[in-house]
Amino acid sequence: MINRRKFLRHSLCAAGATLLAAELRAGIPLAAARPLVISTWAPNVKANAAAWEILAKGGKALDAVEKGVMVPEADPEDTSVGYGGLPDRDGRVTLDACIMDEKGNCGSVMCLEHIVHPVQVARLVMEKTPHVVLVGDGALQFALANGFKKENLLTASSEKIWKEWLRTSKYDPGDTMKYMKEKRSAGGKDNHDTIGMLALDAMGNISGACSTSGMAFKLHGRVGDSPIIGAGLFVDNEVGAATATGVGEEVIRICGAHTVVEAMRYGKSPKEACKLAVERMYKLRKGSIEDKQIGFIAVNIAGETGAYSLKEGFTYACRFSDGLDVVRSADYLI
Ligand code: ASP
Repeated sequence: MINRRKFLRHSLCAAGATLLAAELRAGIPLAAARPLVISTWAPNVKANAAAWEILAKGGKALDAVEKGVMVPEADPEDTSVGYGGLPDRDGRVTLDACIMDEKGNCGSVMCLEHIVHPVQVARLVMEKTPHVVLVGDGALQFALANGFKKENLLTASSEKIWKEWLRTSKYDPGDTMKYMKEKRSAGGKDNHDTIGMLALDAMGNISGACSTSGMAFKLHGRVGDSPIIGAGLFVDNEVGAATATGVGEEVIRICGAHTVVEAMRYGKSPKEACKLAVERMYKLRKGSIEDKQIGFIAVNIAGETGAYSLKEGFTYACRFSDGLDVVRSADYLI
């Protein structure tokens, strides 16, 4: 049950209060707004469906986001996450992931190689160690010690794209994103990008998870926003949660997901809060980020969702009830 006093005390947002009043007038319990799951990017309807299997049975948001994120991680066609993810400039597939629950428990792995499901390793870091983050070889050792199998994550098609890129070896995040977009549309697939997933379960608890192979052709060892708690993902069960996608360096500079959650704490709706973060980023970086994309999605404890991006083209997938997938295009700034 949502603690209504707490809800009102934090005065989440005018829209949230209106929703609450309307629900109370109509005699609809707040639970009507949940469970729900939202993810960055339209193709992640498949990931939402996997998460929904848990949520629909009254399961925990934490289990739902882990299971959901594992879908693109295992999909070789998804070139931005897990198996089949595009490699760094040295041809190494290095993965970043994190997970956070309603109690502020969190775990993260950065620059992890050879493991198909980094989100599961991140969860184990959270549950089995006194730490929050494990990186590189240490993360791999930890995964292997916990029964994960070492695998080759570089698929033939990702290797081919990398070899093609090597001919120019030009790296610029904006350019790389454009290049990847062209590649994807040439292959007829809309299969980007980092997955950030947020779920609100029937008990009123929120959890989130994020997983990516990061920017294609990055320097070896580069880590983006996605596995950084507060940048790529943040959850505060008194307020809501947010997650990000796009050029991670820009998200890190403004502690993106945390900024969104704090804006919700002080009264913004999820969409307004995402917009505030994008505007802050643009104010800081105008002139340098026009060729890049950054997007946020958010949910508050009343079950309202929203998103906003820097540029046109950011989509997100929502599931609010059995079998009903909703894909939305985020509003954008420039
Ligand atoms: N945020 C990811 C990163 O910077 C990439 C992405 O979302 O496309 O590693």
